[in-house]
Amino acid sequence: MIGGSELNKIPNHLAEAIQWLSEFGNEEGGGVTRTLYSHPWKEAQEGLKFWMEQLGFHPYYDPIGNLFGRLSSAEKDAPVILVGSHVDTVKSGGKYDGAYGIIAGILALKYLKQKYGTPKRHIEVVSLCEEEGSRFPLTCSGSGMITGAYTIESFLGLKGFDGVTFEAAMMEAGLGPFNQPYTVRGDIRAFVELHIEQGPVLEKLQKSIGIVETIVGQKRFRVTVEGESNHAGTTLIKWRKDAVRGAVSMIDLLYSYEKKYDEHLVTTVGQLFVEPNVPNVIAGRVVFSVDARHPSESILHSFCQQFMDGFNQIAKKMGLTVYVEQCHEVHPVHMDSGLQNIVKEICTRNHIPFYRMNSGAGHDAQLFAPFCPTVLFFVPSRDGISHSPLEYTSDQDLETGFHVLTQVLHHLAYE
Ligand SMILES: [Zn+2]
Repeated sequence: MIGGSELNKIPNHLAEAIQWLSEFGNEEGGGVTRTLYSHPWKEAQEGLKFWMEQLGFHPYYDPIGNLFGRLSSAEKDAPVILVGSHVDTVKSGGKYDGAYGIIAGILALKYLKQKYGTPKRHIEVVSLCEEEGSRFPLTCSGSGMITGAYTIESFLGLKGFDGVTFEAAMMEAGLGPFNQPYTVRGDIRAFVELHIEQGPVLEKLQKSIGIVETIVGQKRFRVTVEGESNHAGTTLIKWRKDAVRGAVSMIDLLYSYEKKYDEHLVTTVGQLFVEPNVPNVIAGRVVFSVDARHPSESILHSFCQQFMDGFNQIAKKMGLTVYVEQCHEVHPVHMDSGLQNIVKEICTRNHIPFYRMNSGAGHDAQLFAPFCPTVLFFVPSRDGISHSPLEYTSDQDLETGFHVLTQVLHHLAYE
């Protein structure tokens, strides 16, 4: 549990509050590690809970460990405007990823309550339990439960990278039991997520706010090229079935196809295994990964079809065999256009430079978008760096994002 001295440090300002939250799970070298249900994770949630209590937001946990605080409307049955982000981090992550969206949410509720009093619709701030998938091989469990994309059965038997089961970790964090009923929320009218960009676009274009149109789709493949292992000196080139030559031609073809599309198509070959991986032996087998992303499902599909056909032709020509196996797929998710326009109008009215963009990274907003009108907007990340202790956003950019957030919430909950 959170100690007495921590409780005296409840913050008042954005940058100060981000620093305060980063002290739960901070490491030498400036990194923050707060994986789901770990000790620092629980302390951070308890710290946020205490802060919400002090502000009069009646905090509560749902059975999986999402923490909510509420600024209530006078009308009991009014819908809820939900704002927030995730409290968990990757291993040795930064201070801002996820944390910024929660803290800005809490401070926005505080500001709105002081300035405008009781809202017409309830506003809830949520500190989502998990997004990163850094302890268990599953992402967005917090938003997935709220929206019904997951049920508690989704976690049955799930083991973390540390060998601990989801259920045991949950119980250890003082949550559960595992079989508690979980009701999918039917009262959420909109979800608003403010996040750091985690990329270089806004900084390069000198924009303060990035309004996300689409969280891109992803397809990941495992490509196996099979040839024939043989002597590197005695086998003439014309008689070789060299899996490395085949793989190189395929990767080259992949990148040349990529250039034919718009700049939103991005492919990565990040993993490559050569067998037997010996300098004087022609490789008999190469396995490599292909990660392809684009905001349009049909463009992504036709690109993947095209490179797979190309791989088959190369294999045929070189006397090799190729197997392409899809191992991961995320469909593109579009954010609500009405809410995007509200953010755009607020930026225009306040002379804040903004940019409409896609997100190449996944976010909780992606789980909410099929469930309720959802908006995601970004503030710049210095040098585009994230998931690192070097992650940084200037106080001025943090404040700009906060002001836009308060106005979005005012529009949705008071007007
Ligand atoms: Zn994040």
